[in-house]
Amino acid sequence: MNATKGYAANSATENLVPFNFERREVRVNDVKFEILFCGVCHSDLHQVRNEWGHSQYPIVPGHEIVGRVTEVGADVKKFAIGDLVGVGCLVDSCRECDNCKKGLEQFCRNGSTGTYNGKDKVSGAITYGGYSNQIVVDENFVLKVSDKLPLAGVAPLLCAGITTYSPLRHWKVGKGHKVGVVGLGGLGHMAIKFASSFGAEVTMLSTSQGKEKDAARLGAQHFSLTTDADQVKKLYAKFDFIIDTVSASHDYNTYLQMLNTDGVMICVGAPPTPSQIMAFNLLGGRKSLAGSMIGGLPETQEMLDYCAEHAIVSDIEIIEMAKINEAYERMLKGDVRYRFVIDMATL
Ligand code: NAP
Ligand code: ZN
Ligand code: ZN
Repeated sequence: MNATKGYAANSATENLVPFNFERREVRVNDVKFEILFCGVCHSDLHQVRNEWGHSQYPIVPGHEIVGRVTEVGADVKKFAIGDLVGVGCLVDSCRECDNCKKGLEQFCRNGSTGTYNGKDKVSGAITYGGYSNQIVVDENFVLKVSDKLPLAGVAPLLCAGITTYSPLRHWKVGKGHKVGVVGLGGLGHMAIKFASSFGAEVTMLSTSQGKEKDAARLGAQHFSLTTDADQVKKLYAKFDFIIDTVSASHDYNTYLQMLNTDGVMICVGAPPTPSQIMAFNLLGGRKSLAGSMIGGLPETQEMLDYCAEHAIVSDIEIIEMAKINEAYERMLKGDVRYRFVIDMATL
């Protein structure tokens, strides 16, 4: 077995603490790699605190993982020792259902395996994520990472990046479209970068006045403070698309009213509690309320390649592993510009 160091939470009410565990032996199709950086996603916090109700403890979070290959199984074709690689939210799926065959492994009919808080399809063991010094993953769920980009800034692309890239591509967002991005955090800042890179006119819809300058630097042409009723009123019927990245309960109706005729509001944020929708906000203007979840493996690779070509990375604050609990509290306050990334050398 592979003795591994990490950080885990032992219950929904406890801080993350050092945790030693074993990774599986490298199977014939597996890649083992040393984790160099791991991003801190709000989904980590939701799951550590069991806000979605399906957490298994101990939980080792982390699904924005980049590192360097240290061992490959006998049948591995795509990777060699020394390669830079990444792993996102998925480490396995059935590979046989219609969705898997289309490269939509995130929607596997038989249940994809989460990088953490999932169940290994072979051993049945709980999966442990990227807040750790090494990981073993089937090569089909490992991504190639370019050496052209600063590696720490690439880590958040594996979740925040693909989660915003995928819906923008699916709905063919680009030149001539007006896009509103709700919530300027990890996902929100990547949504601005991609939407503006695809040629859309972007408005940042934020509850934090202090983020206005950053929004402009990230590529947003406009900024509106959504706690100011007068500013909200002016946004009536303004957008073709809205991407909602908010992590906490909020009123979707406010934003649906900002959609133009045939507009689409795409939810990617995953608040733990349900919301009420006023049907009239969809009826008038024939609007759609949609959702999107991460992206499949082929599209995640496409996104990484796009980022390498266009020099797109996440804006990050590097932290030591031991600062993770403090980082969660800061993330809850919206005090992160715009993604924490753990330097695994500090573990
Ligand atoms: P984050 O960095 O904490 O950003 C969330 C942002 O939402 C905050 O910066 C804040 O922006 C805004 N916000 C927070 N509380 C709010 C409230 N009560 N009302 C209005 N706005 C509020 O989180 P993240 O990592 O980007 O993740 C965002 C959400 O997406 C989480 O729920 C996460 O679980 C989910 N997620 C979903 C997927 C998927 O596949 N669909 C993938 C990854 C993450 P402002 O200060 O600008 O208002
Ligand atoms: Zn995530
Ligand atoms: Zn499947």
